[in-house]
Amino acid sequence: MQMRDHNLIASSAAADLPPKVLEKIFAALRSESIAELGPSGDSGFRAPWVQAATWVCRRWREVALTTPALWSTIRIRARACEPEAINTLLKRAGEEDLEVVVNGLGLDMREACALVQPHGQRISMLSIDFDELQTEMVQMLLMHLGPKLVNLQLFCDLPAVRYGLGLDPEKVSGLRTLVVRHIYVHPKTEISSLTELQLDQLWGAGEREQRGQLLYAILARCPNLEILELTDTIPRAELVKSGTLPMLEFPKMRSLAVNELANDLPANLAYFKVPASAELHITARYDSCPPEWDDETTVLPMHVLPGNQFENFPMFAEETRDLSLTLGARCCLPDIMVMGGNWCIDIPTMEDSAESTNRLPEFVFHVLDGLPHIVLRPEIVKFLDLHISQHLPDFDDWAALLSEFPNVLALTVGGRRAFNAVIKALRAYKDDLLPKLFQLTACIAVKIDVNTKANARAFGALLVERAAAGKSLKSLIVSVPEIPLNDATVRLAGSLVAHMALRGGRVRVERTACIACHGIHKH
Ligand SMILES: [Zn+2]
Repeated sequence: MQMRDHNLIASSAAADLPPKVLEKIFAALRSESIAELGPSGDSGFRAPWVQAATWVCRRWREVALTTPALWSTIRIRARACEPEAINTLLKRAGEEDLEVVVNGLGLDMREACALVQPHGQRISMLSIDFDELQTEMVQMLLMHLGPKLVNLQLFCDLPAVRYGLGLDPEKVSGLRTLVVRHIYVHPKTEISSLTELQLDQLWGAGEREQRGQLLYAILARCPNLEILELTDTIPRAELVKSGTLPMLEFPKMRSLAVNELANDLPANLAYFKVPASAELHITARYDSCPPEWDDETTVLPMHVLPGNQFENFPMFAEETRDLSLTLGARCCLPDIMVMGGNWCIDIPTMEDSAESTNRLPEFVFHVLDGLPHIVLRPEIVKFLDLHISQHLPDFDDWAALLSEFPNVLALTVGGRRAFNAVIKALRAYKDDLLPKLFQLTACIAVKIDVNTKANARAFGALLVERAAAGKSLKSLIVSVPEIPLNDATVRLAGSLVAHMALRGGRVRVERTACIACHGIHKH
């Protein structure tokens, strides 16, 4: 609603809207202005919705002032920490649960806490940005919170080296979500109510030698977690190898996301145990220093899971029917992505900043060779997708790789060179390679100056040979870019389709935007 329309509305029948409808309108205006301005936007008297709702006419104002839910979000920051205004808001909020957002940077935290503390038992959501020197005051505020608290967010501006925050689960017995950055939180006892935990950037916090103990102590006290996100938080591998840390079992886990340095992952993940149904998303980073082959202390991309992977992460041991690999994607997507039914492992980049090169080509063999061993039983994979950038060196062991997946029904292969190499391997080992293969998808884009006649001929020959061996391919999908196609791509796609149609199989051409097979690679 535009402000200039207010007079119009006031003078029209809209002014006679029943209070319930007005309340709904105000609530919508309020959430719209929060969404627009973000969490730092003004939600007090200067919020745009307040002007819209209360400046129109006396009746609208009355309805707004007597709707407590509209006033239950209190934001306190350096520019908006006037006791009078905040107390008025608190009064208007009546018995409503409070959402309190405190940005303590540049603020007298003592004053802010003094305003909020008396209402601590009514707070359902509390988010505080603070610096380490304000920790004591934040701690005091935490002590005044009660069982209504559902969501707590604690953001220290820099890693808190000396201080930590205590939490008394008996007081905040309804706490479900905890988000923490840069500071260790010490729950006094088990937080059985907590279902969602995000820990962000605890690397530099606390004393170095203690970090393993500190983190594992928090996690061990959250046995009912359903969602756990860890970013730059797990201790260095050498700090957890002592074996003195508790095993972290999360029987209710629905989603575990870990974004950490590859080198620290196996040692830490060895302590985590989640059910097979949990979604697992591992981002293993090298932060500009990819591993060296001959350095035993660095963890290679396909070795980021711990030795007890199948026991701790049974999703890799259970039936993985879909397996997908993308290598050398462009733009901001990971260099290496391996995905199964409910899990994925990403390696964002193999960029070596010292050499200013991308070292992914060195790891192509390692990744493809290791792919079957990520899952316990590659022989039950039915759908295998392999998207490999045209700019990576050729892999020469396709026969060995594909022979690990004898029950694949549908295979997707791209870019063009990998597709050709797979066709060659299938022809060379026609009696035992992918005997059940039913559908083949070629994910391709061809450079304008490439002659693909031989590629199409080889595919035609494969169809003839497999038919003769009683293992006919029944379906072909050609997946080409969404952008206008060049002649070379049209020619290859057309020839593949023609060969398949000639053999009586089903054919389909799809337009997709494959980030690995189709694009110009960034390297
Ligand atoms: Zn592709």
